Amino acid sequence: MIKFLDLKKINECYREDFTQAFERVLDSGWYIMGAELASFESNFAKYCGTRYAIGVANGLDALILIIRAYKELGIFKDGDEVLVPANTYIASVLAISANNLVPVFVEPKLDTYNLDIENLKNRITNKTVAILPVHLYGQLCDMKSLVEFAKNNNLKVIEDCAQAHGAMDTEGNKAGSFGDASGFSFYPGKNLGALGDAGAVTTNDEELANTIKALLNYGSHVKYENLYKGVNSRLDEIQAALLNVKLAKLDEVTNLRRDVANYYSKNINNNNIIKPIISANKDSHVWHLYVIRCKYRTELKQYLDDLNIQTVIHYPIPPHRQAAYKEFLHLKLPITDQIHNEVLSLPLSNVITTEELDIVIDALNKFHAS
Ligand SMILES: *Cc1c(COP(=O)(O)O)cnc(C)c1O
Repeated sequence: MIKFLDLKKINECYREDFTQAFERVLDSGWYIMGAELASFESNFAKYCGTRYAIGVANGLDALILIIRAYKELGIFKDGDEVLVPANTYIASVLAISANNLVPVFVEPKLDTYNLDIENLKNRITNKTVAILPVHLYGQLCDMKSLVEFAKNNNLKVIEDCAQAHGAMDTEGNKAGSFGDASGFSFYPGKNLGALGDAGAVTTNDEELANTIKALLNYGSHVKYENLYKGVNSRLDEIQAALLNVKLAKLDEVTNLRRDVANYYSKNINNNNIIKPIISANKDSHVWHLYVIRCKYRTELKQYLDDLNIQTVIHYPIPPHRQAAYKEFLHLKLPITDQIHNEVLSLPLSNVITTEELDIVIDALNKFHAS
């Protein structure tokens, strides 16, 4: 069996450092909002190149709290519109609707799966307040153009970096440092994954950072004084300690993911399979997923399943076709529909072996649609 993602194997290499980190937390007797969180926040802000990183309970909360903070600061209000790629994971959209703002679905580019500036232009109304670009599958969006477009239209930029830890432009600016604020997820399967739920917000905006810090802790800046009707969305000491261990190795892991992606791209050769484009700037993609497209996706997935090769569809149903968002079912989003009908993600991690990759590649190259 070739697993899509072998989390046990991925985390095995950190066993000793994890054990040390665990014992440090255990012995400290302090399990929430202590030295480990402070250290991770400082390390992660430095890694992303932002003034602030704020640990939160998960990636969805990171995005929800950014929008909520803009509401508390009087910058967003109920009914305001946020432009979001129509092919994103549902969490990007949930963060908008959870705050009583309105998601406006924008068709992506078929080659990069990321937001298309051209398609943004005609979706702006007098209610638009923000763009929520998603660096999908680990590929950095064209942030220079996006930020310029947002500035010209007086919009906030909220990056969804859940799949793109460390993705960089040619000047070395990292995902999470371009927008006004950014949300990260450290869900176990993400490129930087905890052993449980975890997330973070990055920003250079001090007022926003302070508002989010209060919101995530019952709306309280000072113990037992509540400025806002907040929530509990704290990042545990134990997860922060484990994340510190893995953050130190992240770039090494990312480079191994790049090697896997390059190996696939070099060796997969089948006219029925469309490979992801490889940008001239190799740093712009951190390969959270290696996503191919195939007109015969159902058949291809079954064929690989039969050969004990696990694949996953990211994602089978777009947000506007989910029962949860039935009010958007009337939308015509042909590029998004095509993506959801054709994409398939191949096994990829820093611990997959060349032997395993050769088996996957050989199977793919022998696939023919009947
Ligand atoms: C995983 C993910 C999220 C949500 O993160 P959680 O930590 O699972 O809440 C948000 N957006 C995207 C694009 C994701 O892939």
